[in-house]
Amino acid sequence: MKVLTSSYYHEFACLGGSCPVTCCFGWGIPLDREACDVYARTKGLWGMRLRMRVTGSKLKAFRLSMGKCPFHNGRRLCSIQLSLGVDHMPRVCREYPRQLMNLGPFGIRLLDTGCPEAARLLLHAEKPFALIPEEEGDFPECHVTNEDKGFPEALAAALRALLDMLEEEEKTPAGLNRFAELLYAFAGEAHASSVGGGGLPDPRRIDPVRSLPLFPFSIMLYNAMLSTPLFEERLSLLSPALYRPLRYYYRLFDRQTEIEGQKRLAEMAEKYFAEAPERMEKYLRLTGHFLMLDWFDLVEDYSFHSHLLQAVIHANLILLLDLLILEKEGELSEERQTAVLAAYTRRAHHNEDVAKALYRCLMDRYG
Ligand code: SF4
Repeated sequence: MKVLTSSYYHEFACLGGSCPVTCCFGWGIPLDREACDVYARTKGLWGMRLRMRVTGSKLKAFRLSMGKCPFHNGRRLCSIQLSLGVDHMPRVCREYPRQLMNLGPFGIRLLDTGCPEAARLLLHAEKPFALIPEEEGDFPECHVTNEDKGFPEALAAALRALLDMLEEEEKTPAGLNRFAELLYAFAGEAHASSVGGGGLPDPRRIDPVRSLPLFPFSIMLYNAMLSTPLFEERLSLLSPALYRPLRYYYRLFDRQTEIEGQKRLAEMAEKYFAEAPERMEKYLRLTGHFLMLDWFDLVEDYSFHSHLLQAVIHANLILLLDLLILEKEGELSEERQTAVLAAYTRRAHHNEDVAKALYRCLMDRYG
């Protein structure tokens, strides 16, 4: 089948034991039916160890131990893979951070930035928004139930148009703000048109309302977002890379009035981009990347606002984290940026409660 593949997908190679975070820590490890069947048939000591660690009734997962996969060994490697081989690993572990989606007429292959190596590749990719059509014989089955069989193709065309517009946009905060306003307006029109049985609007014909400060967010919006489950004390153990800068946010802004806080934040952002205007490229990339990651969920749920605005939220929160790290530590190395992007992606993009709470904050303000 035809598979649209991100331009840097094939460059990925797992860092193994030298990975600074590993994908075996800080989130659940869901088990597919095939893995559960294999574990049910596995005999001896290993069979018992595997079955003892499975939890859940309908949706099964490995029971974590101190926040990490119980099979993550002292050398930071997978003991299932070492002792039983790759075919005993859950599908998510064999594929991660590869994101594969079969939409019927075509498939999608992307990399998830919850992995620091995938995050590094995204930040360096020459063509971060390119989706290259490739032929693939072996691809996961299609589970799409939408009866509108033409919808995936229409979505792919609209995504291409939006990504082209993002690429053409001025690489400044004002440019990204304009693009975010366009996404907001496109989401509204696409929703109305879909409800009315029409096709998707052409993004190039959308006339956005130019009134929303969508990049960077205001201090009041950041305050609201940091009061969601995005930040909690438990994060100091689960995700120190995220906890430290978020904690610093409170030290910096807690005693300031809204006006003082807004002035300080605006000065930090202005200085950051004035010192190196090319820094802006990263936030445009992140907006496009998160847009691509969520886009094809629209095939089933038509939740245009929530999927499109997540991309805007994530670019803004990564900017805030970068500003805080630079302010606190005086430097922002590449390793730090990829570790923070990976930790943030896990916390905010993959955690449904956090993602929903952040979206509600945005809609309470501008919805
Ligand atoms: S997070 Fe990425 S690099 Fe690290 S162990 Fe997982 S797949 Fe490998």
